[in-house]
Amino acid sequence: MRRTIRNVFFRFRWLRSLRVRLFVALLLIGFIPLVIMRHAIIASYEDRGIDVRRFDVQNQLKIIADHLIKYNYMLDPSSEIVNAELNQISNLYDGRILIINGTLRVIKDTYMLIEGRTVISEEVIRGLRGTGDFRYDHVNRFIDIIVPIVETVSAQSATPEIPEGTEIIHGVILASVSSEAINTTREILANKAQTVETIILIFLLVIAAVAAILFTLPISYVSNAISRIRDGFAAEPIRASYYMETEHIIETYNQLLRRIAVIDDSRNEFVSNVSHELKTPITSMKVLAESLLSQRDAPQELYREFLLDIAAEIDREDRIINDLLSLVKMDKAEAQLSIGIVDINTLTEVVLKRLRPIARKRNVELVFESKREVLAEADEVKISLILTNLIENAIKYSRGSGVVTVTVNADHQFFTIEIADTGEGIDEDSIELIFERFYRVDKSHSREIGGTGLGLPIAQNAVLLHNGTINVDSVVGEGTKFTVMIPLRSRQKLP
Ligand code: ADP
Repeated sequence: MRRTIRNVFFRFRWLRSLRVRLFVALLLIGFIPLVIMRHAIIASYEDRGIDVRRFDVQNQLKIIADHLIKYNYMLDPSSEIVNAELNQISNLYDGRILIINGTLRVIKDTYMLIEGRTVISEEVIRGLRGTGDFRYDHVNRFIDIIVPIVETVSAQSATPEIPEGTEIIHGVILASVSSEAINTTREILANKAQTVETIILIFLLVIAAVAAILFTLPISYVSNAISRIRDGFAAEPIRASYYMETEHIIETYNQLLRRIAVIDDSRNEFVSNVSHELKTPITSMKVLAESLLSQRDAPQELYREFLLDIAAEIDREDRIINDLLSLVKMDKAEAQLSIGIVDINTLTEVVLKRLRPIARKRNVELVFESKREVLAEADEVKISLILTNLIENAIKYSRGSGVVTVTVNADHQFFTIEIADTGEGIDEDSIELIFERFYRVDKSHSREIGGTGLGLPIAQNAVLLHNGTINVDSVVGEGTKFTVMIPLRSRQKLP
């Protein structure tokens, strides 16, 4: 059953429209009581009409019954007066009157069809026992009324066997009167009610349609605004407030717009930064090549020197592209982590060994302190990326000499790696920005020492992928300490 209903709703899409449902609901709320009321009024009119007619006829028949006794009609049905009365009532109520005596014989039929015949029916027998009766035939529109012909014994005619006040039943009067007049009035009434009903229905249709449109207008408004954005128009926030419910939708929608705007801005900024960073080495190469071309007989040493500079710019371009690729790869999803058991101490030693020549060149001492053995569920390549970027920075920003201390430690939940240097430090304003892509405290100095401004964002992304945290403490002129804290157990399952 539920399935069939669902299929119907699926087939006729408009049935799922809130506006259509509201329209139908309002229409039904107005129309159903109207129809019920019409039926109730007409039915009660009919009942009342039948009752009035029945009492009327019953009263007339009781008077006739008295006359029947008075004129001894049951023994001699030739009384002109009574017959005239019977015909009059018969004509007046458009009906037929039968007088039946105690032996069930018809002694008078105003239609003169069954006079002298015997009538055996339950109602007549009950009437002979003194019980009057009444029946309404809905189909043929007739009211059958039975009135017993009762004689109350008076003082003069009383005998010792039949005392005064005894009721003697001589027979019954059976009248079938037409209810056509009531029916005609009922039909006139029904027609009038139907006309009024049709007029009210037209009003209801208009009112329900207008109300359904007005009630659902805010929803259409919000949906149109969203469609406009989908179609590429300006993303204007919606300012109007309607119902509490739509106000909530509008607020959520506006928040979404603000978020989209922020994402859009940061994407634009990122693209412009990328273009700028990629253009810088190309511009340098162009300048170097053009200055060589402009000199006719440039010496070979100059060529060599310029070509070395061009090679350095190409290296730089290569570094930026590689860093960008690492970032983009890490932006995708956690699923890319290839988790394994990593010995953090050994890995740190490997990275330190790789960086030692650079440190030596810059006169920087590398110290490794391992507080305990650490085996963690992590992505080895990404942890190595974190270590390389942080230790490389510590060496790069050590002002020509100094000590870089790398400490590995762990508790039962996390392992920590601290990279502390005795370098130039980072001022308070910049500390919040160093994880932004392409941010550098001193752009020209960073470029001189081969920085791309992407090292820290890469390290931060790798830490976040491991559900870890990265913190910085720095004092200008004294040094900087980066602390990385990562859970020992990965949320991802080991392969
Ligand atoms: P870069 O490639 O320029 O080093 P990073 O993203 O690695 O880019 O670092 C961003 C900026 O943060 C650097 O330009 C530098 O100014 C600052 N910074 C990073 N590490 C240190 C550090 N250990 N000491 C001082 N400044 C640092």
